[in-house]
Formats: sequence, structure tokens, C-alpha cells
Amino acid sequence: MPNTYAIQDNTPDLGPDELAAMRLAIAASREALDAGDGPYGATLVSAAGEILQVARNTKVTSGDSSAHAEMVAVREVAARLGADAVKGSTVFASGEPCAMCAGAMFWAGVKRVVYGATNPQIAALLGGQSLPIRCAEVVAGASPAMQVDGPVLGDEAMAVFQDAVARRTR
Ligand SMILES: [Zn+2]
Repeated sequence: MPNTYAIQDNTPDLGPDELAAMRLAIAASREALDAGDGPYGATLVSAAGEILQVARNTKVTSGDSSAHAEMVAVREVAARLGADAVKGSTVFASGEPCAMCAGAMFWAGVKRVVYGATNPQIAALLGGQSLPIRCAEVVAGASPAMQVDGPVLGDEAMAVFQDAVARRTR
């Protein structure tokens, strides 16, 4: 395995509100799949613990290749409530954020990322384009630090990716 996968996964025990936020992200990933978009979802929770946005990937339907779920969530919260609303937030992502999303969330002031399925799991299952760097590696040494936790509810998150592959071969 390339050493880009060397960073260890970190699976914390989540509270009920955190698990609920992740399940909303997973539900959004299924909506994205049903709409013909990439099967990814994300929930943005404010620093105060309030759910501000549940978003899904809209890459195909919007024609915007950067419209990953995490990007959509950050943009929609900033557009609606202002950029400060994103600061100190936690983003729950059904799939481990890519390098683009990890960087964008850092610059937006997201404090913590929690992911469902891991990047290596998703890449191995879906194939196709691959940007094989772990989220934690992208933000390693970042200042201020961004915490990265996962996989969390990985089996539930992976089920949607497995459905995506099953639909492809039908
Ligand atoms: Zn991304």
C-alpha cells in the first residue's frame, strides 16, 4: 500500500446527536445516488451543536465538478448565514472527504470532520478516478488544527456505495 494510506483511522464513540447527524449525511448520500449524482452526503453542525445544513453531492445535476457534498454544505451555510456561521463547525460526511474538500473546510474554519466510509474503502469499491490521500493527512500540521475522526457508522455508509455499484451493473 502507498504510504499515503499510513494514517490510522480513529473511531471515537459518538453521542446520539452525532450519530443522528451522520445518519442524515448517509440519507443524503442515498438521495444523491437516486438523483444520479455521486453517492455522498454531508451534515454541517454549528459550533453550538445546531444542524445548519444537510447537503448532497450535485456534481452531475449541477454540472459543477467541485459540488461535492462537503463543499455544497459549506457554501450553502455561508451564503445563507454568513461565513462566520461555518467557523468552529463539525462536518459529518458519509465518505471520507477528498483533498479538495478537506482543504476547503479548513479554509472555511471547520473545526472537526467525522466521516463514515474511508477513502481507501470507497476507492477500492468504486474504482475510477482516485485521489488517494487521507483527509487527516491533508490537514496534518494545519494551524489551527482540524480534528478528523472516522470511520463512524462505516457499514451504513458503505451500503450506499455498494448500492451504487449494484445499480451500475444492473
Ligand atoms: Zn470532495
